[in-house]
Amino acid sequence: DWVDFTEFFHHIIDRFEMSKDQNVFFVRELPKKSIFVEIDEDKITQIIDNIISNALKYSPEGGKIRFRVRELDNEIEVSIKDQGMGIPKDNVVKVFERFYRVDRARSRKLGGTGLGLAIAKEMVTAHNGRIWAESEEGKGTAIFFTLPFDPEQEDEWS
Ligand code: ATP
Ligand code: MG
Repeated sequence: DWVDFTEFFHHIIDRFEMSKDQNVFFVRELPKKSIFVEIDEDKITQIIDNIISNALKYSPEGGKIRFRVRELDNEIEVSIKDQGMGIPKDNVVKVFERFYRVDRARSRKLGGTGLGLAIAKEMVTAHNGRIWAESEEGKGTAIFFTLPFDPEQEDEWS
């Protein structure tokens, strides 16, 4: 379906902002305008839910989570960045593998199966997008994904 990604993303962020029980601040850097993309809403919701859940899980008390959408030439780039413990360099690619979790100790405490990002990768790829992580240990993690976007189509909507 065609959806306005700006509105769609705001709704998801709102849902987490209302229900979160941690002291974490949400910072939104979203475009002021509509951006229409053709997506499977349920699947993209599932992806974003997992990325935000991870960000909350690993955020320190009083930390910030930054939500950003950038419009590039033929795609939009979505990112969710936290100020958590980060992911060691050797693992930033592996977190997209099934059942991969960075270390047992932190995983046991924080729960989860290690499937969230693997599923996200499958679904983003099915949408012809890309997904990756940028992380610095002790500073935080940003998960990026792209979705195809047609700026010409955009003109027809306005
Ligand atoms: P599930 O999502 O299936 O409940 P999970 O959250 O452990 O389990 P993924 O979402 O696939 O699984 O994440 C894989 C691993 O990547 C996590 O176990 C964690 O070690 C690491 N990870 C993911 N996101 C972050 C983050 N924002 N900060 C630090 N580590 C992260
Ligand atoms: Mg997860």
